[in-house]
Amino acid sequence: MFIKRCKTKQIRVGSVLIGGGAPVVVQSMTTPDTADVKATVEQIHQLEQVGCEIVRVTVNTPEAAKALPAIKKQTAIPIIADIHFDHRLALQAAEVVDCVRINPGNIGAWWKVEEVVKAVRERNIPLRIGVNGGSLERELLVKYGYPTAEALAESALNAVHALEDIGFTNMKVSLKASDVSLMVDAYRLFALQSDYPLHLGVTEAGTLLTGSIKSSIGIGLLLADGIGDTIRVSLAADPVEEVKVGFEILKALELRHRGVNVIACPTCGRVEIDVVKLANEIEKRVGHIRVPLTVSVLGCVVNGIGEGKEADIGIAGGEGHGGHGILFKEGKLIRKVKSEELLETLLAEIEIMAKEREAGGPGDKGNGHGGAQGNASNAPGGSGKKEIPVLKV
Ligand code: SF4
Repeated sequence: MFIKRCKTKQIRVGSVLIGGGAPVVVQSMTTPDTADVKATVEQIHQLEQVGCEIVRVTVNTPEAAKALPAIKKQTAIPIIADIHFDHRLALQAAEVVDCVRINPGNIGAWWKVEEVVKAVRERNIPLRIGVNGGSLERELLVKYGYPTAEALAESALNAVHALEDIGFTNMKVSLKASDVSLMVDAYRLFALQSDYPLHLGVTEAGTLLTGSIKSSIGIGLLLADGIGDTIRVSLAADPVEEVKVGFEILKALELRHRGVNVIACPTCGRVEIDVVKLANEIEKRVGHIRVPLTVSVLGCVVNGIGEGKEADIGIAGGEGHGGHGILFKEGKLIRKVKSEELLETLLAEIEIMAKEREAGGPGDKGNGHGGAQGNASNAPGGSGKKEIPVLKV
């Protein structure tokens, strides 16, 4: 897919670059009480394992703010503090974290925002301005009647301009709504008028299935337009799933190529093995692999290995051939494998292939340091923004 990405300013959240042509960054948010250091650190480690590049933690109490140094000390990925209502918590958090998220709709008087800006400036860390359909300023609700895309975009632009007026530009912006079309329209409107990096997300998207679908459409439509520099898939599920879905969206759009892409046939009356079980088990056990690999699981060998020829490695069939299936690599039959050994054989071969590629191939090198993707960018709707290369890592 040829995606023209918008040229945005670049900011740095800890070691991770956002915007300005850097690869689209996948982030998530922790779910335990942040004051519970052990549980929060444990979850951040789980998120790191599946490739999460930035994590946001809620800082809603003085106890949560006090826990930040210990959490930071025990984790490696950049941390964003999520602040609502109480700017004093933002001031405390700014001393420790890599970025502070505030919502201009609920932080209160402007002088409070200015204090937060002073604090983040002192440590040279960015702000995320997070506008939300559910907490728009009263005057915008009066003006528009309800949270429209125009109201969301205006709220975000007002905040950006007010910050620019005090000389602050180290920020990224989000305009979230739980309604997919509202969210898409709001981001499109904003992107036409601003080049700050954008954090994309459908807020309160729902459970694993419905939330993934809504997020894939909302985030996917915008990314296909070239809009968006970092994404968070909000799910009422384990945040590990948010990261996995985030990477799947990027993989489907060919914006990132991290990890194993499992393709499986839909099965039909010819099926000889439990494709669904095998594919799920493989996905579960290869989450730690970072290099891009395509793995195919086919229910039979009706088309030989033809249906899996795009895969790097795969298995097909089983019961119908004397209890044997086949293992194939890069379009070539490698050997017959007993049905009951197909899973472990394939997993072992995947590990070998991943190690070989890690040693010699490009793979996913994380954020901002990968090879050229050879794609280009432009603004949506012909706004005339410059083209930039897209990094494919
Ligand atoms: Fe059916 Fe075999 Fe095709 Fe799977 S690979 S859909 S089992 S014919």
